[in-house]
Amino acid sequence: MAGIIARTIAATARRGVQVTTVRHANKMMADPMEHATGLERDELMAKAAGNEDIFDMKVYKRVSGGAGNPTIVPSYYGRRLVGCICEEDATCINWMWLEKGETKRCECGYFFQLTDAKPVV
Ligand SMILES: [Zn+2]
Repeated sequence: MAGIIARTIAATARRGVQVTTVRHANKMMADPMEHATGLERDELMAKAAGNEDIFDMKVYKRVSGGAGNPTIVPSYYGRRLVGCICEEDATCINWMWLEKGETKRCECGYFFQLTDAKPVV
């Protein structure tokens, strides 16, 4: 009787773990490029091509900032909202609208100018 119980317990314990012999290692997760469409696909393709800032969100460093040497800000549209951190220790950002074709001066004295940006793809 004890032998039957021992064999039943051993068989039950072995069945608790299921292991398959075939594993589809390459089909664990779908490649996002296969499902992406539209803007998401353009973003993935640009990143694959090495462009990590396709939405142009990087911070631009100001140049000397005179009226004849403004900081150039690219834009896809006729106007763009630009934030200037006027002082190194500033706790706020001075926001202003830049229009294409005009050079605008921030309160800190630096000049900014909008130019045409290159298309994403
Ligand atoms: Zn400023």
